[in-house]
Amino acid sequence: MYLHWHRRDLRAADNAGLARASADDPALPVFVFDSDVLAHAGPPRVAFMLDALSRLREWYRERDSDLLVAHGDPREVLPDLATEHGADSVTWGRDYSGLARERDAAVRRALDDADVAREAVQNAVCHEPGEITTNDGDPYSVFTYFGRKWQDREKRAPYDPPAADALVTFEDDTDLPTLDELGFDEPEADIPPAGTGPARELLDAFLDGDVYRYDDRRDYPAEECTSRLSAHLKYGTIGIREVYAGTAEARSAVEPGSERDESVAEFQSQLAWREFYTQVLFANPNVVTENYKRYERPIRWNDDPEGLQAWKDGETGYPIVDAGMRQLREEAYMHNRVRMIVASFLTKDLLVDWREGYDWFREKLVDHDTGNDNGGWQWAASTGTDAQPYFRIFNPMTQGERYDPDAEYIKRYVPELRDAGAEIIHSWHEASLTQRRSAAPEYPDPIVDHSERREAAIEMFEEARGDS
Ligand code: FAD
Repeated sequence: MYLHWHRRDLRAADNAGLARASADDPALPVFVFDSDVLAHAGPPRVAFMLDALSRLREWYRERDSDLLVAHGDPREVLPDLATEHGADSVTWGRDYSGLARERDAAVRRALDDADVAREAVQNAVCHEPGEITTNDGDPYSVFTYFGRKWQDREKRAPYDPPAADALVTFEDDTDLPTLDELGFDEPEADIPPAGTGPARELLDAFLDGDVYRYDDRRDYPAEECTSRLSAHLKYGTIGIREVYAGTAEARSAVEPGSERDESVAEFQSQLAWREFYTQVLFANPNVVTENYKRYERPIRWNDDPEGLQAWKDGETGYPIVDAGMRQLREEAYMHNRVRMIVASFLTKDLLVDWREGYDWFREKLVDHDTGNDNGGWQWAASTGTDAQPYFRIFNPMTQGERYDPDAEYIKRYVPELRDAGAEIIHSWHEASLTQRRSAAPEYPDPIVDHSERREAAIEMFEEARGDS
């Protein structure tokens, strides 16, 4: 008999590990609350995870089975559970961060010592690190070629969920812990519903319409035309094979090469970005704390606690930045274009180290994913793969004007600006004090001058390059 150890695969359908575990004999599903893993999470993610676990448990219970809930170090818990329940094997889905791989290696050794077999399977990505490489067999550091190869490769079809008789019949009367019992406060943000049902609803609605305008409109935050699947992909409440299969079907319904077809392909390409950053993290586990790109000298970031706090609070006096940071607080989520803008503002306007921003996102995002979050931050900070050149610096005002022309997104999250016109909102940094006070008396003045900071950022990077 197999135990299936659920981790970032909080689903029954399209689950390669569970399918393997239940192939011959009924499988026993297990989840282990590991305090080492929880130490890296923030309240939004833990709340989402608990909801996902409770829905997964319900799914098992409807089939006279259950999700066995344990607490502790998986190195001890899993061999003990295997012995207690007479299981001779354990399955799980592979994870790719440095910490996860260290933990898994330790679990493998502990199971070997206890004479329990184990099988780790591919369950979180369409193509694993190492599968798509340069012609020399190296991991890609530039997305373009990786993305093309990713698109060209055949994808496996989703796995069926196990039938009720392929699961061990049992009841576990241990309650799932509460946030408080796990040592977390209630999140200040509204957390979206987790679980496969809500994920499928999002996917179906997206594939029914927005996917066909994604290419054109995805950069406009007020339009909300992206899938919002990120937290589900992070926790595996829906399988990536299932998501991909949905997109393939959406493409097959339209003319090849048409705008609609290309729009779906653009969405697929974002799924490839996720796997690109996964392979970057796999090949360079130290990017979590270190720059991917090497400069001649250390970058002399600014120590600016007040600026950092204003950024976190959405009080910088740059409307699109503040709207994004407040969306993060309210929804534990931020639109991708705005993530790029706020990350550029922190690193290139406030000149604050990207690690400060990454830590804040890690704590506040419901979809924090080590590879994607780190990749996004290092890209914006010009320290990452295929780095945005250090002299290309987002202008937060023109970004706002271009991607939120009517200031609809800004007004949604910054109530102090609701009565102001789009024109003054997009020229807030140039408006006189009198104009600002009369348009939006409660909204702060810009905390820095973008043009000055732009020059300072270029100097900072030139010094790091050894040019000055
Ligand atoms: P959609 O546009 O519908 O995309 C579908 C899926 O593709 C996403 O759910 C995600 O899994 C993947 N994806 C989309 N864009 C990217 C991208 N640029 N890089 C990698 N994968 C992508 N994404 C996360 O999942 N977790 C993070 O912690 C995260 N942090 C980020 C931090 C910064 C500074 C930046 C610039 C980007 C970050 N992203 C992160 C990428 C992107 O912003 C989010 O994936 C996206 O906004 C999620 O919304 P969605 O599901 O509606 O995306």
